[in-house]
Amino acid sequence: MRILLVEDDQALGEGIRTALKPEGYTVDWLQDGASSLHALSHESFELAILDLGLPRMDGLQVLKHLRAAANPVPVLILTARDATSDRIAGLDAGADDYLIKPFDVAELKARLRALLRRSFQRPQPALEYRGISLDPASQVVEYQGQTINLPRKEFLLLHELLIQPGRVLTRDKLQQALYGWDEEVESNALEVHVHHLRKKFFPELIRTVRGVGYLVDK
Ligand code: CA
Repeated sequence: MRILLVEDDQALGEGIRTALKPEGYTVDWLQDGASSLHALSHESFELAILDLGLPRMDGLQVLKHLRAAANPVPVLILTARDATSDRIAGLDAGADDYLIKPFDVAELKARLRALLRRSFQRPQPALEYRGISLDPASQVVEYQGQTINLPRKEFLLLHELLIQPGRVLTRDKLQQALYGWDEEVESNALEVHVHHLRKKFFPELIRTVRGVGYLVDK
């Protein structure tokens, strides 16, 4: 579960990131509006936590740009206690929820769980591919009618590949989808996951594009 955290307060940002890590979230953290809009537009996140008061484009503008581009990523905004008008503007601009600073991390976690539940309940058809069925909502994977239990990273990798068959996904993009920006990744981690998926399904499932990345054929 990859989350983009956008918060320019160093202590708060560190605190949120530290609190979310044990929950199994991959948290990438940016501290200004412009680079977060760029990241949200070019990479895939399951959710964004967006502070409103930010340098280089405020959070409200980021949100407006996202929604104007029909980007559906669930967004939780962080606002100051006295800024009722910000909250209203944020919700009007397409925020899915908000928290008022200072907040309890337990509440933040509960809000994130609720948002993610809601977003997975949006109709997302199961992906079907040559005998494989992957249901993003229930996270169940079947192959020829048998349930296959995949570790989280393998599930994420298979999901990334199956939602865009016929498209070469670069190593960088896949690594970011699996690990985020900061997590230390063994240089051959991706190869190992690919190897496991080929073994659990069939060898031709994932094609290697030398020097670039991987794809599943259309
Ligand atoms: Ca701020």
